[in-house]
Amino acid sequence: MKIANILKQKKTLSFEVFPPKRETDIGNLKKTIQDLATLNPDFMSVTYGALGTTTDNSAAIAKFIKENTKSEPLAHITGIASTKADIINLCNELKKSDIKNVLTLRGDNPENTNNLQSDFEHASDLAAFIYEQFGDYFSCAGACYPEKHPEAVSFEVDIDNLKKKQDTGMEFFTTQLFFDNDVFYRFLIKARKAGITVPILPGIMPVTSYKQIDRIIQVSGVLIPIQLRNYFDKYRNDKQALEEIGIIFTSYQILDLLTNDIDGLHLYSMNKSHFIKKLMANISYVTTGYFANK
Ligand code: FAD
Repeated sequence: MKIANILKQKKTLSFEVFPPKRETDIGNLKKTIQDLATLNPDFMSVTYGALGTTTDNSAAIAKFIKENTKSEPLAHITGIASTKADIINLCNELKKSDIKNVLTLRGDNPENTNNLQSDFEHASDLAAFIYEQFGDYFSCAGACYPEKHPEAVSFEVDIDNLKKKQDTGMEFFTTQLFFDNDVFYRFLIKARKAGITVPILPGIMPVTSYKQIDRIIQVSGVLIPIQLRNYFDKYRNDKQALEEIGIIFTSYQILDLLTNDIDGLHLYSMNKSHFIKKLMANISYVTTGYFANK
C-alpha cells in the first residue's frame, strides 16, 4: 500500500534502518527489523548510502521488510552519482519485489570520489524522472530540514525549493533530525504558509552515546539544546546513564510532538531495536492511542 494513502487514514509510526557495511552483519539487521516489527510500525525506511553507509543490499533489505513484516518498506534512492539507466534498473528491482514507496533524495557526494556521473541535480529531478518513467506505480516522498539545508542561501529559499518538491508530486516529507521542537514548529508554520500541504513527519533520533552527539553536530549542524549537552558532558563516560538520559529526553520530545498533533513520527533507529523498544515502552499508553487514529 502507498504510505501516502495510509497517512490519509491515520497517524503513522515508522523507523529507519541502514544496511550494514559488512555483509556478515545482514543477519543481525534482519533480527533487528523483526524486533522493530513487533512495535507495529506502519512503515520502515532503508537508507541508500547515507553518511558513508553502503548502497549494497538496500533493495534486498526493503524486500526483506516487505516479505517478512506487516510494514511497508520505504526505499531511499539518491540521484547523486546515478545515471538515468541506474535509476531505471533500481526501480525495476524494487518493482519486482512489489515495493511502491520511495524516498527520493539528492544524496551527498560519497567521500574520496571524483567525477561521478550524475543525471540528476536535485531530488525533485529524480522524483520527476521516476514519475515520467513509471507513471503512478511509485509514490515518491522527500526530505526536509527544520534548521534549513546547509547549502541553502536562506530559509525562505529552502522552503521555496521544498514547494518545488511537492509540485513534482512528492506525497509527504520526513525531516532531518532535530532536538528542539520549537525549531520544528516554526518550520512547520513557514512550510504551511508557503503552500506545502502534504504530511510532514518529524524525524527523531534517540541519542545514546557521546560519540553520536558529536557526529551529529559535525555532519548536520543541528542544534543540541544546552540541557541535553550538559547531561551528556556530565555523564560522558557512563554508558548506562547516557542511555537513561537519551530515553527520558526523547520520551518528552515525542510526547510534546504528539501534543501538537504531528502527522506521524519517524524514528531513526540506528539499527538499535532494544533502545527503540525501551523508548516506546516508556510512552506506550499515549502512543498506542495516538497511532490508532487520524
Ligand atoms: P535537494 O532536495 O536536491 O536539496 C539540496 C539543496 O538544493 C537544498 O539546499 C535545496 O534548497 C536546494 N534545492 C532543492 N531543489 C531545488 C531546485 N529544484 N532548484 C534549486 N535548488 C534546489 N542521504 C543519502 O545519501 N542516503 C540516504 O538514504 C539519505 N536519507 C535521508 C533521509 C532523510 C529523512 C534526510 C533528511 C536526509 C537523508 N539523506 C540521505 C541526506 C540527503 O541526501 C542530504 O541532506 C542532501 O544534502 C540533500 O538531499 P535532498 O534530497 O534534500 O536534496
